[in-house]
Amino acid sequence: MTLKRFSLLLLSSLLLAITMLLVSIYYFFYLPGIKTEILDQQQQEYNLLYSALSLSKNSLTTLCYDYAVWDELVEYIGNPTDDFVQRSMPDNAFKAANIDAVFVSDINNELVWDYQDDSLTSSRLSLVDLIHQQNIPSFAILPTTAEIASQTVSSRSGYIVFGGALIYFSNTTILPSTGHGEIVGSLTMVRLVDKALIKGISQFSLVNFSIADVQTSTKSMQEFFSLKPIENIAPSHSWLIRNTFDNQAIQVTLHHKKVSLPQLNWVSAITILLSIVLIVSLSLIALSRLLIEPLIRFNKSINDSSDNNFMSKMASNHFIDEVENVSYSFNQLLLKFNAQQNYLETLAVQDSLTGITNRRGLESFSKRIISRWHLENIGFSVMMIDVDNFKYFNDQQGHLNGDDALVAVATCLVKVMAPYDALASRYGGEEFCIIWADNHYQNILKVAEEIRESIEQLQIPNKIDGRNWVTVSIGVVVVDDKLAGVQKYNFNDVLQHADEQLYLAKQTGRNTVIVARFSN
Ligand code: GH3
Ligand code: MG
Ligand code: MG
Repeated sequence: MTLKRFSLLLLSSLLLAITMLLVSIYYFFYLPGIKTEILDQQQQEYNLLYSALSLSKNSLTTLCYDYAVWDELVEYIGNPTDDFVQRSMPDNAFKAANIDAVFVSDINNELVWDYQDDSLTSSRLSLVDLIHQQNIPSFAILPTTAEIASQTVSSRSGYIVFGGALIYFSNTTILPSTGHGEIVGSLTMVRLVDKALIKGISQFSLVNFSIADVQTSTKSMQEFFSLKPIENIAPSHSWLIRNTFDNQAIQVTLHHKKVSLPQLNWVSAITILLSIVLIVSLSLIALSRLLIEPLIRFNKSINDSSDNNFMSKMASNHFIDEVENVSYSFNQLLLKFNAQQNYLETLAVQDSLTGITNRRGLESFSKRIISRWHLENIGFSVMMIDVDNFKYFNDQQGHLNGDDALVAVATCLVKVMAPYDALASRYGGEEFCIIWADNHYQNILKVAEEIRESIEQLQIPNKIDGRNWVTVSIGVVVVDDKLAGVQKYNFNDVLQHADEQLYLAKQTGRNTVIVARFSN
């Protein structure tokens, strides 16, 4: 797997992991938190409503504890006078007790006196109807005439819905404060509940009150006053409040303010996802620029260096220190390799005895000359040089002296050829070869003679065939420019031709130069 693919895989996994992490955070932490918060809110709204409705029942029967008033009330029903009303039942007393209506009835359930708050005056008559005329028989607010006739003391209270509003009523039979004596009527006090209640909780929600069918509703709905926790988030919750007569119930519906969990917004989700993709892509680009590309270049440098045999250094100034260090170390290593390779190459083309170029070196140098010959038809010349009677020398003076003589001859050849574009090499044994970019016949002949003379003048003793010193025979071939059909000849052909001239030089009596033109 390539590093690029690996990084792609790594970053894709990262992308997946981040997305899964965000989704997990959303579903396992964020949503449950929100859910708890909404449930708490709905529960608070219920608690508030519960407290408010519980409070609405309070102190509606204050008059019950004022015995004197009760006794006066008994008298009042028998003989209604304004005096009693003004003294004992002033409007502001009811207002202070948050009582919205008061009805005093006689034993025939006829209205004797009533008080209604300003807010109820518009519906005054219908409220009177509701209380006294028993338009809704199921709400037996007043004691029945039968109960009064049998002198049954009664006290009843409960909620009723009146004109869409919730009303709490409290009815008590009127009899002397001692509890003994004749029942003369009944006192009904009414509190309009939802007026204040809705105002109190309107900042959270709205409450609806409606009359419910007991038979069907009670099965599925909880009792309002049993105070149960809210377990499920819903736009609204409903409970039942049973009336005292257990034949009708009031359904309380609480419309919550916070009603549902936030839905995943696709635009935000896609924006977040695209942002992650963007971040991951930028990371990929940065990773690629800073790490992968240098590594690819590094690999290319290594390949180039090994394949093409030339130094392909790595660029420096990398952002990542480690990459920069690797680049520096690689370049240092390359320099060392190069130096060693040069050394080895030198060793490979150097003759170990004389220190001049060996036959392999000659062949590699000749390639340049031959290719120029083949492509541009530029001539050159080759000299084959052989030490005369060298076997004899060795036999007379020993092999070690023979070696020294060869070194001296080689050194002399290099010295003479130094000014020219030529390479002097040891061809093998006591034979040397010079390849020379020049092909001027006379010039070649002159330098060949100079070589022959210089060797002789070294005056290395070798007394044979009338000569006193070590001498050489030289066979030269001059290859002219613009020779036709040169492509079919190679270096060996030229060498062979030079060898033939050398043979002629030996035949001629040694210590001789023979020059010929290469012909085809
Ligand atoms: P000619 O004039 O015909 O060339 O006679 P020659 O004796 O030089 O030729 P021949 O081929 O008979 O002998 C070559 C001798 O060169 C034989 C060998 O001992 C000697 N020789 C070759 N290489 C070396 C070397 O590295 N060191 C020494 N000391 N002698 C060598
Ligand atoms: Mg020889
Ligand atoms: Mg020889």
